[in-house]
Amino acid sequence: MTETETTNSPASETSFRDQLGIVSKEGKRKWIYPKKPEGRFHRGRILASWILLAILFVTPFLRFNGHPLMLFDITERKFIVFGLIFGPHDYILFAIAMISTIVFIFLFTVVFGRLFCGWICPQTVFMEMVFRKIDYWIEGNPLRQKQLNDSSWTGNKIFKKSFKHGIYFFLSFLISNMLLAWIIGSDKLLKIITSPPSEHMGGLVAILVFTGVFHWIFGWFREQACILVCPYGRLQGVLLDRNSIVIAYDFIRGEPRGKLRKSEERVIGDCIDCHQCVDVCPTGIDIRNGTQLECINCTTCIDACDSIMDSVEKPRGLIRYDSIEGIEKKIRSLFTPRSIGYSILLIILISLLIYLVITRSDIDVTILRTGGMFYQEQPDDYISNLYDVKALNKTFESVPLSFKLKNVDGMISVLGDSLIVKTQESVSVKLFIMLRRDQIRSMNTPLQIEVLRNGEIAQIIETSFLGPVGGKE
Ligand code: SF4
Ligand code: SF4
Repeated sequence: MTETETTNSPASETSFRDQLGIVSKEGKRKWIYPKKPEGRFHRGRILASWILLAILFVTPFLRFNGHPLMLFDITERKFIVFGLIFGPHDYILFAIAMISTIVFIFLFTVVFGRLFCGWICPQTVFMEMVFRKIDYWIEGNPLRQKQLNDSSWTGNKIFKKSFKHGIYFFLSFLISNMLLAWIIGSDKLLKIITSPPSEHMGGLVAILVFTGVFHWIFGWFREQACILVCPYGRLQGVLLDRNSIVIAYDFIRGEPRGKLRKSEERVIGDCIDCHQCVDVCPTGIDIRNGTQLECINCTTCIDACDSIMDSVEKPRGLIRYDSIEGIEKKIRSLFTPRSIGYSILLIILISLLIYLVITRSDIDVTILRTGGMFYQEQPDDYISNLYDVKALNKTFESVPLSFKLKNVDGMISVLGDSLIVKTQESVSVKLFIMLRRDQIRSMNTPLQIEVLRNGEIAQIIETSFLGPVGGKE
């Protein structure tokens, strides 16, 4: 693959849907050299990118009550979201959260198209706001970049390419470390960084592999990640409809297009066919052909066209955020049957999720009489029952648990050692309860058992005690 061909040439009116803008007729990749973006949307995206990058790099180091604010430790199946810890036992919450996320993506896309891709997606932010800017800084404008790629390997080219890829590698290494901090936590990452490599070869190899992957994606694969790989981009075809707001060319106003001739009165459309919207496009498409899978809604064509409209003293917005209905009929409606349906479903799911999180207990204990066991006669007129106890600790600390009978006098004891449940772990133990014969009034005596955590009541469990009625066999 070479970096020698550019896609920034006009697409034929009829053929654009039969081919990919980044692939030549011979099936080779066309390298994109987009013009440097400028304008109000670009400035807004720069601000949004800095905020997003700050969130990505700073959040893993933020702590709440001595614990990470956010952590997605897939290796230990431990997740911390805004200071709340979740584990595999919270699978129902995960399932509802996942379904809510999918419904939210559907709703958001139906209404706002690929707004996420242009403003928030880390791939776009890193590619367009970080790596692409390094291209401009080191290699110059698109023409100079192309000339450099086409030229033979001189000292200048070797220096520029080495310098650029050195920075790419360093940034990819930083991104890998950031990703690892989200997964294993900043404490473990700092330990890895400050201890000898021989003590964490696995972690080091993982970081280097991810560094290589990021370097390859941002240095070579680039816009193909959005066009060929991203599943979200592929979903657009089924999610977008005539009311979805996308980046659209106003063909009613713009067509028929034609070059500007100052001496003649203009009787055709507002598009002066200057090609600026195509030249700035980082995915190499012509938005005047209509909404296309390749469009990542990056807004640079809006800025480019607005500046042309300013210069020819026409109103801005020939390319703008709008829907097909908005362009054709001037009707803009966020509330369509689809968006209302998704909204109702989303409200139900989020309400359910909030309810489950709010009512979620720190400790979950179940006590069930051991199956297949009858009561046992004990000395001194006591009757005993054996129980199975299962205790789950959803907190950050190990928790010692003890038990106390609430509604009857009797003895209760855990078999084996005292019950201490480690963080995010579940333990099973046996429990003996002994009652005096004269306390037993029926075959099943109702029992209330207090579960004590550090002496405080954490839960009250209802069960029953099997024994001879009236204390007689
Ligand atoms: S930048 Fe605007 S005027 Fe120029 S070709 Fe694109 S749509 Fe037409
Ligand atoms: S068509 Fe416009 S918004 Fe879409 S990717 Fe190209 S420049 Fe960005």
